[in-house]
Amino acid sequence: MTIRYDGKVAIVTGAGQGLGRSHAIELAKRGAKVVVNDLGGAKDGTGASSAAALSVVAEIEAAGGEAIANGANVANYDEVQAMVKQALDTWGRVDILVNNAGILRDKSFAKGSLDDFKLVLDVHLMGTINCTKACWEVMREQEYGRIVVTSSSSGLYGNFGQTNYGAAKMGVIGAMNTLVQEGAKYNIRVNALAPTAGTRMTEGLLPDKAFELLTPETVTPAVLYLVSEDAPNRTILCAGAGGFSVAKIVETDSVWLSPEEQTPEGIAAHWSQINNDDTLRELKGGFEQSLKMLTVAAEGLGIK
Ligand code: NAD
Repeated sequence: MTIRYDGKVAIVTGAGQGLGRSHAIELAKRGAKVVVNDLGGAKDGTGASSAAALSVVAEIEAAGGEAIANGANVANYDEVQAMVKQALDTWGRVDILVNNAGILRDKSFAKGSLDDFKLVLDVHLMGTINCTKACWEVMREQEYGRIVVTSSSSGLYGNFGQTNYGAAKMGVIGAMNTLVQEGAKYNIRVNALAPTAGTRMTEGLLPDKAFELLTPETVTPAVLYLVSEDAPNRTILCAGAGGFSVAKIVETDSVWLSPEEQTPEGIAAHWSQINNDDTLRELKGGFEQSLKMLTVAAEGLGIK
């Protein structure tokens, strides 16, 4: 079975180089019409240029594909709306959105400025929200949408010097968790990618051999799967160097403590039972947690 995207229109943000470039090229190769968005600035988000997006469009066209360049700053909602309008004016629909654009302002929390923190949130988190918001109504009306948010192991697990980036990268997972619920009846599926790749973002951080193995092209199949017709939903797919895994947010069973034990000392006394990895499981929505707590409370209190 070959997965293709004929007749589908895709927007890939930050597609001028690195991972986004690879996603855009492969989507186009498999039949999608692609908006190659890129602000074209430096790794820290300064500056702008249309050169990178234009060169990816030229590459796609040379291979027989269809693409248009767009220079919107994903952090600017007006520019993002104009980008979606450009896609609609050109091809009449938007089926796929790959939120990929990103910058870095790495500094330890002690040394980093709040301005840097806000900028990183603006590009990664608000950038994702802006693009998703601008496509959402279009996808709802079409009753079709496939959206990817790009997360990171730094958000899922932490990484020294990346409080700002980690907060933004976990933020997009939070958005995904609710978007899947609101998009379900319109056939909109939302998934997350947690990539690891050798790009300008990771240049100098990895040994040469690792950098060579972690090509963007080894990550792209994960994105293509997540935006396919039969894509999963609400999945965090991790990818790099040809390896693939799924990350999950899980929770232990609820342990009900008697009213006398509902104290910090009671929690300490039952800690190994509360913090028991053997009972970990994934919840489908926030309400499930309340239900879980209430179920054991009702049992404990003898309420039928
Ligand atoms: P990259 O720097 O090679 O590419 C990012 C692209 O985004 C650049 O072309 C840049 O011009 C563009 N961009 C930046 N700000 C923009 C804005 N405001 N509007 C539009 N375009 C903008 O980086 P990459 O490694 O390819 O990263 C792609 C995505 O993957 C990012 O979201 C990054 O955080 C994420 N990620 C990368 C890694 C990795 O190992 N490389 C790991 C985890 C997550």
